[in-house]
Amino acid sequence: MTAIRTLGDLRDHDMSISFYCADPKCARLLGLTMELAIELFGADQRYVGWQPQGIKCSECGCRHTTIVIQAVPFGYGMPRR
Ligand SMILES: [Zn+2]
Repeated sequence: MTAIRTLGDLRDHDMSISFYCADPKCARLLGLTMELAIELFGADQRYVGWQPQGIKCSECGCRHTTIVIQAVPFGYGMPRR
């Protein structure tokens, strides 16, 4: 079994990552996508316990994010390189 630890692993296993505002009163989906996250932080970035630096909720200004990992149906992930 392969360990899935990094953004690149998620991409290669057709998983999706979503970033939400961590403020429970706001909790909106942030504009940060997997593609953008890989561009900004690199495919080697681990996502467990990760707080992306410099990401801020444009609605409430909260700097903490909640990360949600989901499996996506085959063919719906990001194209492999
Ligand atoms: Zn917010």
